[in-house]
Amino acid sequence: MFDEECHFNQPIRWGMVGGGRNSQIGYSHRNAAQRDGLFKLVAGAFDLNASRGRDFGINLGLDSDRCYADYKEMFAAETQHEEGIQAVSIATPNATHYEICKAALEARLHVVCEKPITFTTEEAQELKLIAEKNNCVIGVMYGYSGFPMVQQAREMVQRGDIGDVRIVNMQFAHGFHNEELELTEPALKWRVTPEVSGSTYVLGDSGTHPFNLCGFITGLKVERLSCMRQSFIKSRTPLEDNAHVMMEFSGGAVGTLWASAVNAGSMHQQKIRIVGEKASIEWWDEQPNQLRYEVQGEPARVLERGMGYLYQDAVGVSPDRIGGGHAEGYFESWANIYHCFALAFDAANRNNQEVLSSLIFPGIDAGIDGVRLCEKCVESAEKNAAWVKYK
Ligand code: NAD
Repeated sequence: MFDEECHFNQPIRWGMVGGGRNSQIGYSHRNAAQRDGLFKLVAGAFDLNASRGRDFGINLGLDSDRCYADYKEMFAAETQHEEGIQAVSIATPNATHYEICKAALEARLHVVCEKPITFTTEEAQELKLIAEKNNCVIGVMYGYSGFPMVQQAREMVQRGDIGDVRIVNMQFAHGFHNEELELTEPALKWRVTPEVSGSTYVLGDSGTHPFNLCGFITGLKVERLSCMRQSFIKSRTPLEDNAHVMMEFSGGAVGTLWASAVNAGSMHQQKIRIVGEKASIEWWDEQPNQLRYEVQGEPARVLERGMGYLYQDAVGVSPDRIGGGHAEGYFESWANIYHCFALAFDAANRNNQEVLSSLIFPGIDAGIDGVRLCEKCVESAEKNAAWVKYK
């Protein structure tokens, strides 16, 4: 079970940029970070609209003088503050991630950043170098690897339960944007605007999630890929609301990724199926407490979270918070990941490299991989779905 007694002497003093009132993802960060008492929200520049951001921060219980108009003011003031923030989460639209991350790392803050972390791999690699130089840790909010059954899947693949991996099918194909809702929804409007979203819409917004799971569970590295992308809502062009990607991994395995926002009638449909030589496993984020395990020639099994037959050491620092049968979900997965971020930030502060390297969480390399996926898909799609080398 989850160790509720794991605490620091003082919670990590934590701030947020973005994630203001009515934002899609701000509450998820606050909920996850503060769940286990390892972070305490003490400052924020929550909103593009400074007075709304200040009002929001005060309503969350922050001191009014630590609700800032923008991130520059916040980092400048907090670095002078006796009890200034030690870490910051960035939950703003994509175009701002690079500059805010860079400023945070230069202020020697640990960072949790939303994805895609930057527009280009060069920018993301630059952030990695600054973080290394300043002894800072970067977490990137790929929030699904914190599900215990995803960790069980990883353990099963690593231990050879399904044999060598042959095929990975990935998809995140929702139907929420099958109509031109950006005409009335600002959070969709920026997602289909290249200057704010970057070179992709649904590939970066959704497709990078199961792609991250593929790397987390299998460790496979892409050699080359081919991508076809299009917008069924024509005004979204040049960005895509639907994409199909084929991949070849080193070692001979192959994969496909379907990312869509126009899969009418569907909820998330985020699934990953990993086919090995002797068995397959499949995980679906709408039934996250279960993992299908299908051994060739035997009846299919559904493994349940919290049961003694699972690998008990698979879950590391993010074990079950409640016994099997009760549903754990998205918020627990995020809290598990934030728990790991906290341990990583603390280990970095104590320069404990042994602990730091033992922790598994989506960090800057996962961030770079997500950005590279977007870049390479665009490159391929622009050449009529030609195969392009991944690195
Ligand atoms: P949103 O438009 O709903 O909210 C953005 C928030 O950031 C708003 O409060 C806005 O006022 C604020 N903001 C914008 N620019 C700012 C700036 N320069 N300084 C301070 N605040 C600023 O967007 P969202 O859907 O919450 O997405 C935010 C980010 O989170 C995006 O990068 C998106 O890709 C990512 N996201 C990730 C997940 C996930 O599962 N990890 C899910 C949804 C969104």
